[in-house]
Amino acid sequence: SCATTKEGQSPGKLIVLTGPSGVGKGTLMRSLLQRHPELYYSVSVTTRSPRPGEINGKNYYFISRRKFEQLVAQGQFLEWAEFAGNYYGTPREAVLNQVLSGKLVVLEIELEGARQIRISFPSALSIFILPPSFEELEKRIRGRGQDSEEAIARRLCRAKVEIKAADEFDVQIVNNDFETALNAIEAALFK
Ligand code: 5GP
Repeated sequence: SCATTKEGQSPGKLIVLTGPSGVGKGTLMRSLLQRHPELYYSVSVTTRSPRPGEINGKNYYFISRRKFEQLVAQGQFLEWAEFAGNYYGTPREAVLNQVLSGKLVVLEIELEGARQIRISFPSALSIFILPPSFEELEKRIRGRGQDSEEAIARRLCRAKVEIKAADEFDVQIVNNDFETALNAIEAALFK
């Protein structure tokens, strides 16, 4: 095949959505996909246990740490990171195939992974979602009511680190009003 574009020379159809856990990027992402079915959402692989209602293959591919480490060794991830005690990774082949076929591919990932993507794909569009305030973020993480106290503490600690890195990304959007934030993401994507 002639489609042998190197990672660093991709057509620039990768979009990275990042920001602290609890900021609402998952919800923004779902609405974005509903409005734009032409977007390709990359389903990540994780070692975290499924939350109530989460479906394997839809929300994530849920696998063991051992299997995850095997996939890392085989080079099967475009990026991967450890977050709050679990591994998360973006499947390489599926994403590259979609990008090469001209699709807009959206990744919703944490800071370290987003940094890796910015290095491998300088032409990727990177968007950082900010909470209105740290207090509001804490409320949202607790309000979700799905994580243990220990997991919440880890996520909050991590959120402080992540928020400081917002400036590294192309676009910063505050998720105060949901509609406004969604419109801002659309404006960045389709301008
Ligand atoms: P959660 O456990 O709440 O679903 O996700 C925790 C964090 O991991 C979120 O910030 C989410 O965006 C991020 N995440 C999800 N999938 C991936 C991935 O494939 N790679 C990386 N680096 N982070 C991910």
